[in-house]
Amino acid sequence: MPLDRRQLLQLSLASGLAGTFGLKGSAVRAAEPATGTKWIFLGTKGGPRVTTGRSNPANVLLVDGVPYVVDCGPGVTKRLVEAKVELPSLRYIFVTHMHSDHVLELGNMVDSAWSVGLKHEVDAFGPVGLAALVKNYWESNKADIEIRMPDEGKPDPREMLKVKEITNSGPVVSTDKVKVTAFRTPHPPINENNYAFKFETPKGVIVYACDTAYNPELAKFAAGADLLIHEALYLPGVDALTKRIKNASTLKAHLMASHTSTEDVGKIAAAAKVKKLVMTHLVPGDDPSITDEMWMADAKKHYDGPIVVARDLMEIEL
Ligand SMILES: [Zn+2]
Ligand SMILES: [Zn+2]
Repeated sequence: MPLDRRQLLQLSLASGLAGTFGLKGSAVRAAEPATGTKWIFLGTKGGPRVTTGRSNPANVLLVDGVPYVVDCGPGVTKRLVEAKVELPSLRYIFVTHMHSDHVLELGNMVDSAWSVGLKHEVDAFGPVGLAALVKNYWESNKADIEIRMPDEGKPDPREMLKVKEITNSGPVVSTDKVKVTAFRTPHPPINENNYAFKFETPKGVIVYACDTAYNPELAKFAAGADLLIHEALYLPGVDALTKRIKNASTLKAHLMASHTSTEDVGKIAAAAKVKKLVMTHLVPGDDPSITDEMWMADAKKHYDGPIVVARDLMEIEL
C-alpha cells in the first residue's frame, strides 16, 4: 500500500531522510543548504553553577554551515543539538580563558561528536593550559576510546583534535570565510591568560568579550563592530546572589574585581560605536526577578543603540 504524505513525513523524520522527500519546515532545517552568518547563544549564565534555566557560557557562530564554537561551559553539547547543529560538523573551537564555566565540557563535546561520526580535524584555540586540559581529558577517557576504535572502526580522536595555545593579542586563525583575532583583557586574578575575540565574517564583525573586568581598551578593539557581545554584572543582584550560595564573601570580591557592570558595558559600547550590543554571561543569571529592562537600564545611560539581553538558543543573524 503506498504511503500517504503524513506517513512519508513520519518516516522521513524518523530516518533523517527529510531532504530526500523535499520536505520543508523547522523539523527538517538541518537538511536545508546551510548559508548565512548567525550567532547562537547556547548558554547565557555566567559562572560554573549548573542550575535549571540558563545554561553555562557557550556559543556557536555559524558561517555558511561551519560552526565556530566559542566557550564550552557545562551543557554546550546538549545545547548544540537543541540548536540543530550537527555534532560531526564541529570544526573550530575558541576558549577565552581557563575558568571551568568556559572550558569544562570541551572534551566531552568533541568526544560526543566523535561518537556520532566526527571524521575530520577540529582546531581548538585557547589560552595556555588548554593543551594540558585536552591531553588529560583523553587520558581519563583512554579506556572508552581504545574500546571503540577497533570495535566501531573509528579514527583516533586524540589525533583529530589539534590545540593551538594563544600567548598574546593578535591574529589567531584565518579560515576561507572568517578572520579571528585575540585581544588580551584582564579578568583578575587572570590577567595574562584571558582573551576577547573578534570574528570578521563576510557579513560583518562580531566582538566577544567574556570574561573581562571593565576595560576601556576593549572599545578600541571593538570599534565599529556590528555586534558587541559583552559579559554583564548586575550590581544590585550581587548581594541577593551571595545570600543564596555558600562562598559568599569571596564570591562577591571576585565578581566586583573581575567582571563588568551593566553601566560600564554601556560605556564600552558607546565608546566603540558598535551597531548592536548584546549582554550575555549574565551574573546573576538565575534570578528571575531581574527583567531585561533592568539589565539594560544602566547601559542605556551611555549607549543609545540597540541592546539585546541574550537568552539560551537566541539566534542573531548578520
Ligand atoms: Zn565566566
Ligand atoms: Zn571567568
